[in-house]
Amino acid sequence: MSKTGLRKTKSLPLVSRLFLSHLLVMMVAVSSLVIIGKLSSPRFFVLHLQQLEGRGVTLRYARTNLIKGFETAWNRSTFWAVIAGGTAAGGLSYWVSKRIVQPLTQIEQITQRFAAGHLDERLPPSEIPEINQLTTSFNRMAVSLEDVEHRRRELVSDLTHELRTPLTVLRGYLEELADARIEPTPGVYQQLAKETRRLERLINDLQELSKAEAGYLPIHLQAVNLRPLLESLVQKFSDQLLEDGPLLRLECPDQLPSVLADPDRVEQVLVNLIGNALTYTKTGSITVRAWTEAEGATSRLPQLWIAVTDTGIGIAAQDLPHVFERFWRAEKSRNQHTGGTGIGLAISQRLVELQGGQLEVESQLGIGSTFRFYLPLA
Ligand code: ADP
Repeated sequence: MSKTGLRKTKSLPLVSRLFLSHLLVMMVAVSSLVIIGKLSSPRFFVLHLQQLEGRGVTLRYARTNLIKGFETAWNRSTFWAVIAGGTAAGGLSYWVSKRIVQPLTQIEQITQRFAAGHLDERLPPSEIPEINQLTTSFNRMAVSLEDVEHRRRELVSDLTHELRTPLTVLRGYLEELADARIEPTPGVYQQLAKETRRLERLINDLQELSKAEAGYLPIHLQAVNLRPLLESLVQKFSDQLLEDGPLLRLECPDQLPSVLADPDRVEQVLVNLIGNALTYTKTGSITVRAWTEAEGATSRLPQLWIAVTDTGIGIAAQDLPHVFERFWRAEKSRNQHTGGTGIGLAISQRLVELQGGQLEVESQLGIGSTFRFYLPLA
């Protein structure tokens, strides 16, 4: 046990300390009262008798008796006053000490339960303002800790779920190969490689997301004209498009004002958005648009908007609030097939935010989706 721990166990509890300090104050007050009373009262009484004698009252024989009687009366009444007053003051002091210490004891019990994992524990409000401030701060901290813990559990459970599927497929294939239940054809090995790649992508995406969420991703902001980047990206994706696939086009004014952004991160976001649009659009078109919004059009600073609009499968209204959540996919089984991890949009959103912008979505099931984001002008 530490030195402070030892000191803590040896020292008196707060309730006893408060009670004893009250008692000490009371004893000092009573002793002064008794001593001063004892010394001064008989003298004042004698003085009073002398005044009476001065006015002609004869006390010669009764004088000693009177003084003795006064002293006895004073002693008795002081004795009973000390007993009654002491008992009342002691009781009152005990009650007050308890009232101060009770909320502190309660705080200690509740914080111990909280530390033991009962994260929903909260401190009740107190009548004492200082303690009330303490309980409010504690409760605020408890809410944020509970939130962090909740998200941690969610992440672990999401992760386990995401890792289990490719691992189960891998194990299944490997066991069947070991038992010679399937032929070791190139197709089987390709399937094994595909699942391994999926695991690899999941881990890479996760690493990127955790860095982005923690704000560790290096962002090198600079004044940059995004038009060449948009052109080269649209060209690169168009080259990969099949004959009967959707049409990919760029709508961008010739003169685009510079934005304050990291071109590599903007490319990362656009690759994700265009890649998604291509995955979920079988026919029709995918349009990448860029336009500027002047100051005053909204309350925000002047900014450049970039949108990727597709005529693909779209997203249901009830699913829209979830698209930027990590691991969220509209149809888990379908996307497992397309190889999506459901992390891309979460990373993109964070990357745009780190560059001072915002990523938004608009979509209608069966009609198409628009993902757009803005970046501040340089
Ligand atoms: P994934 O790697 O699965 O594509 P994302 O985070 O990029 O992960 O996307 C999350 C989910 O959002 C996708 O699985 C898909 O269901 C939906 N989604 C994203 N973009 C589109 C789109 N353009 N059209 C329809 N659904 C989309």
